[in-house]
Amino acid sequence: MLARRLLQPLKTANMRFFPDSFPYAPDWVVLGVNNACNLRCKMCDVGAGYKASNFYHNMTGAKPLNMPRELIFKIIDETARYFPKAKLGYGFTEPLLYPHLVESIRYAKQKRLTTALTTNAFGLERLAVDLALAGLDEVSVSLDGPPEIHNAIRGHARSFAGAFEGIKKIFKIKGPAPEVSIFCAVTEWNIGHLVRFAELFKSFPLRRLGFCIRTLPRPMLPGRTMPSMVVYTPPPFPV
Ligand code: SF4
Repeated sequence: MLARRLLQPLKTANMRFFPDSFPYAPDWVVLGVNNACNLRCKMCDVGAGYKASNFYHNMTGAKPLNMPRELIFKIIDETARYFPKAKLGYGFTEPLLYPHLVESIRYAKQKRLTTALTTNAFGLERLAVDLALAGLDEVSVSLDGPPEIHNAIRGHARSFAGAFEGIKKIFKIKGPAPEVSIFCAVTEWNIGHLVRFAELFKSFPLRRLGFCIRTLPRPMLPGRTMPSMVVYTPPPFPV
């Protein structure tokens, strides 16, 4: 135990100053690039107004914050240099609102990194072509059910339509385009509507349709309960 404690700062320092000599390269470098979201989901600290969590405060700061352009370019440079096989992920917050999204993905592709985006996709339609041209490799979209269920959970009457149109637009792109996966958190609000939901995507060439199931009882997790198990349904989907 003592040895581990003593070694930990060395490991951290080694990682920071000599990352190329760190024995285990990460598979992913996932970035939270902003503190804003355009939805207010029931199952999220933001939508539920659960103010005791860091996530709530990070996401609803007094003013919108974006990772500075110089910083994300520096991270991309260092990832490409030290961990060229790691995927660069944009997640946690709502990356489609990040002003340097497209140009930073383009830069990451120039550096031969694989890039991935996790999004609520409200606003994807506007950026779909630009993201494809920039070379984005993967998009994971969070959806919660058929339109009226999703909209009720997400707190916005057009949130499903916005995401659906964005996904359709990606599949219409001629030439290289990101692979699309859809993930659905199974909750008490959408249970009973999931087959109808999956049927909406029957004809879409999705990479994955995933259902995230909460496996820990609510009292064991503070505040928001994140889904902790993902059931993937590889195509063709059994609907
Ligand atoms: S889209 Fe994501 S971050 Fe935004 S409110 Fe919903 S769950 Fe929270």
